[in-house]
Amino acid sequence: MSGAADAEPPAKTRKSGAGNGGGPTHPLIDIHIHQAPDRLQAQGMKGGGRRTEAQFLAHQKAVYAVGGVILGGNDYDYEFMRQEPGRYVRFAAAPAPGGDRAAAIEKALKGGARGIGELRWEGDTPFTRSILDLARDHQVPILFHFQESDHPAAVYAEFYRTIEKYPTVTFIGHAIDWWGAIDRNYSHTGGRYQRGRVTPGGLTDQWLARYPNLHGDLSAQSGNTAILRDPDFAKDFITRHQDKLMFGSDCTCTTGGMPTCWTGIKLVALNFLQLSAEVQRKIYLTNAAKLFNLKTG
Ligand SMILES: [Zn+2]
Ligand SMILES: [Zn+2]
Repeated sequence: MSGAADAEPPAKTRKSGAGNGGGPTHPLIDIHIHQAPDRLQAQGMKGGGRRTEAQFLAHQKAVYAVGGVILGGNDYDYEFMRQEPGRYVRFAAAPAPGGDRAAAIEKALKGGARGIGELRWEGDTPFTRSILDLARDHQVPILFHFQESDHPAAVYAEFYRTIEKYPTVTFIGHAIDWWGAIDRNYSHTGGRYQRGRVTPGGLTDQWLARYPNLHGDLSAQSGNTAILRDPDFAKDFITRHQDKLMFGSDCTCTTGGMPTCWTGIKLVALNFLQLSAEVQRKIYLTNAAKLFNLKTG
């Protein structure tokens, strides 16, 4: 979250949809949200920037989001979830390294979290296996952030072994390596946001085709780069994996408007591809609604 975004007036004082580049056109479910509850923010907890729940709801309204997945929402009490059950689910994440992270995640699952994430992929470690056992036993999806450059043990090319070990677990992939590896020539040593035409046959593309339990989230700058670096490839990729990909933003801004809102930027990028109406409906709304049992209207 940027300081500039912090300085914006509260969204409720702005007109709905103001500054969002002409207005959103698709009802959507955002599967990649970070938002702390007001009560914990008052106690100084970090996460989701300093956006209040009211600002978050105004942001969702401005981008026509009808629901979503609150990552790291753990077993927290959100007023907007109480008001309208069936629109949002909470995922469990261990906020800080240290302590028994798996126990913290298990506690949140027992407290009503309906998934695990977002978590850094750390490789096939005892912690990874313990949380995948939890995902399997609680029958909940798990969302991973892949970034080998930060975690040398987290070798992306080996991730498929874990998918194969847990065939009943629903995996959702996101971030630098996930999107970089749509290209068969991808190496994380080449930088975070690699540009230019995609060489088909990347690991992410192969795995999405091979494993029915693997899904992807379109969030963040990595998702935008993948969409925009080679729009012809992106249109083909999204169309081929139309039943596996879901809209996500990773946006923590307060306004839901352009030009700094990740949700707005992604809508512009996706609209640029001119995907079919059926594909749009799936990736914006119905894939996530089915996976997380959420309302669509
Ligand atoms: Zn995130
Ligand atoms: Zn935003």
